[in-house]
Amino acid sequence: MSDQRVKLDYDLLIIGGGINGTGIARDAAGRGLKVALAEMNDLGEGTSSASTKLFHGGLRYLEYFNFKLVRHALKERETLLQAMPHISWPMRFILPLNTEMRFENTTPASRLINFIFPWMKGRRPAWMIRFGLFLYDHLGGRKFLAGTTSLILNDSPEGAPLQEKYKKAYEYSDCWVDDSRLVVINARDAKIRGADIFVRTKVTAATQTKSHWKVTLQNLRENTTQVFSTKMLINAAGPWVSNVLADTLLKHSGTQIRLVRGSHLVIKKLYDHQKSYVFQGNDGRIIFAIPYETDFTLIGTTDVEHENSNLIPECSTEEQDYLISFANSYFKKAITKADIVWTYSGVRPLYDDGASSATSASRDYVLKIDTIEGAPILNVYGGKITTYRCLAEDVLKAITPFFPNMPNHWTAGVALPGGDFGINDVPCQITNLLSVYSFLSQRWATRLIKAYGTDAFNILANAISKDDLGQDFGATLTEKEVRWLMGYEFARSAEDILWRRSKLGLWMTENQVQNLEDFISQKQKEFSI
Ligand SMILES: Cc1cc2nc3c(=O)[nH]c(=O)nc-3n(C[C@H](O)[C@H](O)[C@H](O)COP(=O)(O)OP(=O)(O)OC[C@H]3O[C@@H](n4cnc5c(N)ncnc54)[C@H](O)[C@@H]3O)c2cc1C
Repeated sequence: MSDQRVKLDYDLLIIGGGINGTGIARDAAGRGLKVALAEMNDLGEGTSSASTKLFHGGLRYLEYFNFKLVRHALKERETLLQAMPHISWPMRFILPLNTEMRFENTTPASRLINFIFPWMKGRRPAWMIRFGLFLYDHLGGRKFLAGTTSLILNDSPEGAPLQEKYKKAYEYSDCWVDDSRLVVINARDAKIRGADIFVRTKVTAATQTKSHWKVTLQNLRENTTQVFSTKMLINAAGPWVSNVLADTLLKHSGTQIRLVRGSHLVIKKLYDHQKSYVFQGNDGRIIFAIPYETDFTLIGTTDVEHENSNLIPECSTEEQDYLISFANSYFKKAITKADIVWTYSGVRPLYDDGASSATSASRDYVLKIDTIEGAPILNVYGGKITTYRCLAEDVLKAITPFFPNMPNHWTAGVALPGGDFGINDVPCQITNLLSVYSFLSQRWATRLIKAYGTDAFNILANAISKDDLGQDFGATLTEKEVRWLMGYEFARSAEDILWRRSKLGLWMTENQVQNLEDFISQKQKEFSI
């Protein structure tokens, strides 16, 4: 694709294997560009495995009159659902009305309401929520997702886990997505389309000439370095975007990034139905309670300023107390710290739009190209999981002047690996898998289809009995699956497999984890690093 006289290794070299980096790699490779992506840790190990895992418009951004972002994200939900019906599915959200609630709310919507109806001060009235949900239903158009309904909580299964003072609720639609698998299957598809994906490989230096970049990649496992030339650099380093600019590229940009930590609690399942809850707090924020990995409930999130990107984000005691007391103001059965099975935290790399609070900072993305001192670089600021595909399209549009012969956008409507079936066909895929591999349990088959979709058949291949799947690591993880993950999904450690390619770590014992780690270190050499 590149037309310069010097033969370059790549057209694009992408720094960062989160959802934005891998989404850009897939889109660009599909258009015939020669692409490399370097991720210093595991794919998705940064923010992209630590989200609330929703494809959503962001109901609360309506209070900030951020209609463009909400509309964009709402429209995108169904496009994404169709491309990955295995790892993403529609979800209903119950929003209980809380008539007692009063809070100091400074959003543009509440300021307007306080101006028109001064006696409403400190309230988010039911009609305002219903109006917001009306906009939410109609702003982005819906083909598959159900619209908003009202719900009487007394005597309904949805009301059963809640305190009796909550009488009425609204129910609306958004979608669930397995965020870390989304990153990995984008990387896998990028590779299928010709991209080179380097994991555990840090971009440590880059020098700019008039026509290209010379980029140093350090393999952190083997402590080896390689230098590649590329026509263009894409800095998709998420929370590290400014560090890469300042420390690696020795460039200074005027753009600021705001680091906002969000944490989640995973606790034993609090209720039996498959719907999620949205709770309003008396600080004006909301939190979600979501059915998680069959046996658990996910509760989150928080908004806390995070000092610097090199500080590993962890759920602080204050955040745990905050989430527990927030949830306890809605659920009948009080949660305690003893119920916490696991916590995780991530850092939102938000574009700094000068907002006063972490909660109100914009979730939209900003792309900035710099060509001042020679070969181009594009820096990505902000973004959401939900908008990753559009972000990638916008990146490719922005760099078209450097690759004028590049084909047009293509990713909308093209299935990701394993997602080549209809959005309502998961049960049918599970039945098919069980009919071919009758030794699987229903739960096991469901897990495989919801992780790999039609690739589950490629993983199990010609197995006739469980013995054909090799070593059993526990929790239905077998050697066949581990080999697939190492060979096709860039997994290099037990943690990659147990906490990102799957969440089987929730059920595994220490011994089982050690056995898996031993197996992986023995087999490491069989797989390209
Ligand atoms: C708590 C929380 C909840 C969220 N919930 C949602 C949600 O429900 N829905 C939604 O749409 N969005 C959500 N988001 C937002 C979304 O998760 C992020 O916007 C998105 O994951 C950012 O992706 P990224 O690729 O930009 O960054 P990252 O995923 O952090 O990827 C950047 C990568 O760059 C790598 N890197 C950095 N420096 C180098 C280097 N020198 N060399 C090589 N690699 C490098 C890092 O290791 C990292 O893996 C949430 C975010 C948080 C924190």
